[in-house]
Amino acid sequence: MTPVALNTVIVDLDALRGNFLAIRQQVGTGVRVMAVVKSDAYGHGLVPVARALARAGADTFGVAEVEEGVQLRQAGIAGEIVVLLGAPWWTHEAVVEHGLSPVIFDRQVPAALAARALAMGRQVGVHLKVDTGMGRLGVLPAQVGELVPELQGMNGVRLAGVMSHFPLADARQAGPTLAQCRRFQAVVDQVPGLAGPGVARHIANSAAILRYPETWLDMVRPGISLYGCYPTRHLARPNLPRLTPVLSWRSTVLQVKEVEAGTGLSYGHTHVTRRTTRLAVLPAGYDDGYSRRLSGRAEVLIAGRRAPVLGRICMNACLADITGLDHVRPGDEAVLIGRQGAEEITADEVAGWLGTINYEVLCQVGARNRRVYLAAGGA
Ligand SMILES: *Cc1c(COP(=O)(O)O)cnc(C)c1O
Repeated sequence: MTPVALNTVIVDLDALRGNFLAIRQQVGTGVRVMAVVKSDAYGHGLVPVARALARAGADTFGVAEVEEGVQLRQAGIAGEIVVLLGAPWWTHEAVVEHGLSPVIFDRQVPAALAARALAMGRQVGVHLKVDTGMGRLGVLPAQVGELVPELQGMNGVRLAGVMSHFPLADARQAGPTLAQCRRFQAVVDQVPGLAGPGVARHIANSAAILRYPETWLDMVRPGISLYGCYPTRHLARPNLPRLTPVLSWRSTVLQVKEVEAGTGLSYGHTHVTRRTTRLAVLPAGYDDGYSRRLSGRAEVLIAGRRAPVLGRICMNACLADITGLDHVRPGDEAVLIGRQGAEEITADEVAGWLGTINYEVLCQVGARNRRVYLAAGGA
C-alpha cells in the first residue's frame, strides 16, 4: 500500500476486535451484544467494521436506517440487523427481501410490513420501542398493552425484541437511569408476551454497559465503546477500564520555515508571532474535518511533541508552532488524533477544544478522510 492522500484516518481493526471481545466477556454469555455500526460505524467505515466484528463473533448489528442494513447484507453480513430508526413504508420491500429487523413504534408500520412479508412468503422480526424517558422514538408505556396483542395477531411479523433508550446514562447521577430501567422492566412484566424467551429485552448503551450491570437484561447495545472511547467522564470505576481507541488521524508536514517576531499568520492575522517562530504547514483544514473552530485551540503531535496550532485553520491547511523542534522536515508525520511516541491526542481532547463530544469528532473526521485499515495480517 502506498498512501497518496495527505491525510489518513487509520482504523485499527485489532483494537476494534479487542474492544468487542472485552465487552462480550464483561457482559457474559447470557447477554447478547448488538454491535452498533450506524453512521458509517461512527466514521470508521460500515462494511469493514462490521466484517471485522463478525469475524470476532458478533452476530447482531444495529444500524440507523434500512439503506445501511442493505449494504451490510450485500457485503455478506449474516445475523440479525436491527434498524434503529425503523422502516417507513417505502423501505418495506427491502426490509423483507434482506431480512432486516426494524424497530417499530406504531401499529401502521408493522401492519403494512406484515402484509408485505406475507405477500413475499416471509416473516420479519421487529423490535418494539417503548419511550420510557427519552422523549424521542417509541410508544408510551400506556400504549404497549394494546399494541402487543395486535402485533401477535400479525402473521408476517414476529416480535423479536422490546427495547428502550437511556437519555441520562452518561450523567453523574445514577438514580434516574436505574429508575428508568425499572420502569421499562415493569412494562415488560405487565404485558403478556413480552417476557417470553423469544423476545430480547434491551436498553443499555455504552454508558450503561460501563456503569450499570443491572441494565444489561437480555442484550446490550454498545456503540462508542466499541470504537475505544468512553461516553462520559462520569466513570469513577468503569467496568472496562482499558478500551483502545480504534481511530487515529495522521497528516504530513508540507513545509517548514522560520518567521520573524511580528509576523501575522493565516487569514485575518488572528495570530501575530511574538518571537522568531518555526512553523510547520500542514495539509489539514476544515474540509478534512479539522474544524475552523479549532483555530487557536488545537495542538498536533510532531516529532513526538505537542505543537500548538497557530492562527486560523483554512479549508485545506493549518499551521503548527514547531519552535525548538529543529529536526522536523517536510514529509514528517503530524498526528491530529492518536499517539506519537509517548504523547497522545484523543478524540475527547479534540471534542473538548470544540465544545462537543467525541462521537461527533469521530463521525466528522472519519467521513472526511481516506481510511486505511490495519489488522494483524497487515493493512
Ligand atoms: C447509537 C445508539 C446506541 C449506542 O450508543 P453509545 O452511547 O454509542 O453506546 C444504542 N442504542 C441506540 C438506540 C442508539 O441509537
